[in-house]
Amino acid sequence: MTEYKSQVWHVNVREQTLKREPVPDSWKRLGGRGLSARILLDEVDAQCDPLGPGNKLIFAPGLLVGHMLSSTDRISVGGKSPLTGGIKEANAGGRTGLHMTHMGIHALILEDQPKEDGFWVLHLSLSDGAKWERADDLAGLGVYATAPKLLEKYGDKVAIAMIGPSGEMQMKAAGIQNIDKDRVPARIAARGGLGAVMGSKGLKAIVFDHAGGQKPPIVDPEAFKAAQKDYTKSVLEHPQSITYRDYSTAAIAAMCNSFAALTARNFSRGTFDQVDQVDGDALREFTLKRGKPSDPSHACMAGCTIRCSNIFGGEDGKIIVSPLEYETIGLMGVNLEIGSLDSIGRLNWQVNDLGLDSIEIGAALGYVLGNGAANVGKKYNIERVPVVKGQAMSGYEPRSIKGTGVTYATTPQGADHTAGLTIRVKINHLDPTIQKDPSLNAQLNMAGYDTLGACIFAGFGYAATPDGVIKRLLKARYGWEDIPDNALQALGKETIKMEREFNRRAGFTKEDDRLPKWMTEQAIPENGAVFDVGEEVLDHIFDGIE
Ligand code: SF4
Repeated sequence: MTEYKSQVWHVNVREQTLKREPVPDSWKRLGGRGLSARILLDEVDAQCDPLGPGNKLIFAPGLLVGHMLSSTDRISVGGKSPLTGGIKEANAGGRTGLHMTHMGIHALILEDQPKEDGFWVLHLSLSDGAKWERADDLAGLGVYATAPKLLEKYGDKVAIAMIGPSGEMQMKAAGIQNIDKDRVPARIAARGGLGAVMGSKGLKAIVFDHAGGQKPPIVDPEAFKAAQKDYTKSVLEHPQSITYRDYSTAAIAAMCNSFAALTARNFSRGTFDQVDQVDGDALREFTLKRGKPSDPSHACMAGCTIRCSNIFGGEDGKIIVSPLEYETIGLMGVNLEIGSLDSIGRLNWQVNDLGLDSIEIGAALGYVLGNGAANVGKKYNIERVPVVKGQAMSGYEPRSIKGTGVTYATTPQGADHTAGLTIRVKINHLDPTIQKDPSLNAQLNMAGYDTLGACIFAGFGYAATPDGVIKRLLKARYGWEDIPDNALQALGKETIKMEREFNRRAGFTKEDDRLPKWMTEQAIPENGAVFDVGEEVLDHIFDGIE
């Protein structure tokens, strides 16, 4: 077997060339979100047009990807966002991260713009490098029709990242769909319009053919195995893992309802009288009653022991959508007062097929769409739009869960619960004076997990494993001797610092770190809460890390 080589693959879409280069020293100890922030800072003018030739689209597996550590094989996609105008990282499960690592691709950087209109399939392999095929027969097709054609042509062992028609049309709510372990193209790097960036590069799909690839080397296999064993035990036994396995992410709907933190009726109420029709219990009951292929528990990537996903099928025994996630239920269901999982699931399939972000479209549908909620608000001169930095909030009402409101306001990523959700912290979520530290802690942790390639739910397991398991894993994998004790937060700090610097160069100021004004004035009826965390908190939350 040939020696494993970790390289940066630079693809120029104008010249249709591939250069495989050594990883620069300053990129070696970063992966995923942190690496894509480093590359964007080093190589992209923050003032560039996100859909122009100056922007780059980056695919970067996390630092711990490649070893089937439970729920830790995610792919991060990064670029300047056409939706927010700032830095963007969106990550997804599925096969892409694992296969890229086995091919030795530390990062894939797509640059420039094609000479002519039309779309291409980029096929990457170890033996042939980059091959380009016209995608005329795929242009305009949804992802559910595109994936089988690609699998037929390139074989069913490959990983694929692709866009739907929304990405081809460069819509700002377009994401990038990745196939999962069962070859379903529903693992979307959804947020921030990165599908539009891929469309602007003329790429309908990227096929990763890992034939001849191998697992990345481990410097100390025994130590890695021991740390992996401890982590796997924690993740398997953690009560949250068990809840998500049985009830999937829909489990959180009832919890949000109890805090008046649902996003009901276009963010005007915090509870929903039909919540019991769309929560985790309902989803479990439907899937069990309907039987196969419905399944309340499904893994989006090989090796995940949490299995928070599901396969949601109809009474006719046909799959409606897989998976049906809480965020979609929150924004395309509760937000629109739709109390039927069947209807939400069907809407979800359509949005997936077009390659759109269901959070953004759910919020935009709260009015009427592909370019996201902020654009709809601007067009119709509507003030009550639930966005920060131009990106729609996800399914957690920030007036009732104020720490998450702090995250929405201050994360460089635009309103996004995956940047630092605080709903599980045991505090009074309505007290504006105590939200800074929970949000900061959650933001640093999440930026760290996104840099490692770990799923948000893997965090329960990592946090519950004693003895600095992340430090042990990194040390065993790479042989680094100088890893700080809190390796997770150290990675998170470095990542957020770079992201803030990119946004500063792009022209963002502290005035962009705010929730919409109407949320500071209009109260949630159930608890009278407005968003009243002081601006001095928002302005200084990152003081300690800069
Ligand atoms: S916990 Fe869920 S989202 Fe995370 S890796 Fe497992 S199935 Fe995928």
